[in-house]
Amino acid sequence: MATLWIKSPLAIWTGNNDDASGGFVVDGDKIVELVASGGAPSCHFDDVFDASQHVILPGLINAHHHFYQTLTRAYPDALDKELFHWLKALYPVWAGLDEEMMRLSTQLASVELLLSGCTTASDHHYLIPHGLEHAIDIQVQETEKLGLRTVLTRGSMSLVKTKEASASSYHSNRATNTG
Ligand SMILES: [Zn+2]
Repeated sequence: MATLWIKSPLAIWTGNNDDASGGFVVDGDKIVELVASGGAPSCHFDDVFDASQHVILPGLINAHHHFYQTLTRAYPDALDKELFHWLKALYPVWAGLDEEMMRLSTQLASVELLLSGCTTASDHHYLIPHGLEHAIDIQVQETEKLGLRTVLTRGSMSLVKTKEASASSYHSNRATNTG
């Protein structure tokens, strides 16, 4: 894979005392050299990207997502509702979650995250209907393709229908699978 010198950013944060004011060289998805202010890489590089109008930060981390919900954000019956009413409006829709929806929602959420500077996300997925037992596998496939780092969890949900139980159990996802 080609090496690229991301040269002289407007600002850069390394999280330590290393001077990378001159940018850095990447080989694929790996940083192979930091370049000090006014310097040039000592390693070979194939191309240069002028970062003088860019600020470089480490990727952001989203610690709590539900990728599949990206598909129902604008569902009319659920708009502007309190949590329990929002859930009641959406559960019948989510009951029809299938493989294509799982795949598309994972793609959409991943692209949105990456475009906003987020490179790592934790998805708390708890809808595993019959026929979609491989939901987490789909997430692994799609996020790997897009290059989003993930911590995927399989959550659980109470079947109790009382208002208090359903609402309070909503955020009781338990991580049983990480990777
Ligand atoms: Zn949640």
